Amino acid sequence: MTHPCDLSLVEMSERLACGDLCPVALTEEALRRAEENKHLNAFVTLNKEGALEQAEQSRKLIKEGKMRALEGIPLAYKDMFCTKGLRTTAGSRMLENFVPPYSAHVVKLLEGEGAICIGKCNQDEFAMGSASITGFGGAVVNPLSDQAGKDQTGKDQAGKDKAGKQLSAGGSSGGSAAAVAAGIVPAALGTDTGGSVRQPAAFTGCVGVKPTYGRCSRFGIVAYASSLDQAGVFARSVQDAFAVLHHMMGYDERDMTSVDSYRGEKVNPDMNFGILLPSLDVVEKYPAISEWLKGMEMLLGKKSVEKNMIAGERYKTKDVNLQNLESGALEAYYIIATAEASSNLARYDGVRYTHRSTHRSTALKENNIDELISGSRSEGFGSEVRRRILMGTHVLSSGYYDAIYVQAQKMRRILKGIFEKMFETYDIILSPVTPTTAFTLEEAKNFSPQAMYLQDFFTVQASLAGLPCLSMPFVKDANGLPIGLQLIAPAFQEERLLAAASHVEKIIGYKP
Ligand code: GLN
Repeated sequence: MTHPCDLSLVEMSERLACGDLCPVALTEEALRRAEENKHLNAFVTLNKEGALEQAEQSRKLIKEGKMRALEGIPLAYKDMFCTKGLRTTAGSRMLENFVPPYSAHVVKLLEGEGAICIGKCNQDEFAMGSASITGFGGAVVNPLSDQAGKDQTGKDQAGKDKAGKQLSAGGSSGGSAAAVAAGIVPAALGTDTGGSVRQPAAFTGCVGVKPTYGRCSRFGIVAYASSLDQAGVFARSVQDAFAVLHHMMGYDERDMTSVDSYRGEKVNPDMNFGILLPSLDVVEKYPAISEWLKGMEMLLGKKSVEKNMIAGERYKTKDVNLQNLESGALEAYYIIATAEASSNLARYDGVRYTHRSTHRSTALKENNIDELISGSRSEGFGSEVRRRILMGTHVLSSGYYDAIYVQAQKMRRILKGIFEKMFETYDIILSPVTPTTAFTLEEAKNFSPQAMYLQDFFTVQASLAGLPCLSMPFVKDANGLPIGLQLIAPAFQEERLLAAASHVEKIIGYKP
């Protein structure tokens, strides 16, 4: 019989409703599993007491027949989401001791539906990265590490280079993805600025969904790049991911970019999928992409793939230049994201509430405030964050602003236009999620910054255009590691995304 923690969120909820399952026992088990999987380093902080209190409250409410939509469901949140009274670090030494006096809007919405927070998940520092290795608590380990390159009896298969190695869970929301993939919680929250929900979902074999920009309030989420940041959900199935997401979307006056209107339309069951594939040299360079393409042929049939492929010469129109979707998008993303980060992170100065340099605090006595701030920032931020602050400051500085930053904004506008054009023909756009499957932690540590940024090759486009998108497990590579499929829908068409992804799930016979 399936253990209650391994049930889908929807089944879990049904069993809780009929009294078959007790929220306290379920929460205890989730906490036990979190402890048992400590080696994954998926959590920064566990919320033992708080979670058990919440579970007790849920138990009472269920007994009184007052069950809410997510009553008693254990969840975990990336450490970017402020949680009242529970430490929130954004993976940074800068915020190592920060205990927020309020909760993020989406956290409050989930709490209001009875969800239980069992802990805060590990991540890349300030959500900058694609491997979850830069958090001050160390790297997250992909739960699939034990299975990679092994046959069914658990023996290493010859020639499978990743057997016995620790793999990256992807980033930057790697801890949340690992917590779901390891069966600790049925769903977890992440944030996605340029791919940080979709990429870890692909590496760990779960579903990761990012809604339209503006759908979920950013209030109370530690800011990285405000015009791109969105909350997202990890789960083991499409249905479960949306079961949580549906309760997170909605207007919030405290976020200027929050959207009021619901523009979901009736979903057309015969969807026309457009397939977005990069140029041939990219396909040839990355074996995972060739496997992905084979998977596409199995999913839609070779003929449809040929017909609906938005690639190369055949789709070179005045409006759609695929070159822009490739290198143009990645460059624009890193200019815009670092510019916004340099401005957002200026608030961490060691004066008000963040890390304060101890050996330089004497500077304060001597009235040397610059020394205090630079000391605190050099100690509090890790090297990747410092690199991005420098890059962002550079692209915004006078003389470079027009030459770099403004050009990136123009490219962003062009990309939006390309998607609008593609959606005139297609209902949903399909693409790979990442150029490779999960790399080893050893490899990740030796990546150059540029090699790490290339991981976002397929994910930044939808982020720059603010579109809802999702990553789901699709096919496998030679090591038996998952290769993800990305689905992108027009703005505010989350329902279409759900319908399309559920459809794909059925065709490929996906079972969590
Ligand atoms: N890897 C990208 C970056 O480092 C995306 C991160 C994210 O989505 N938070 O910026």
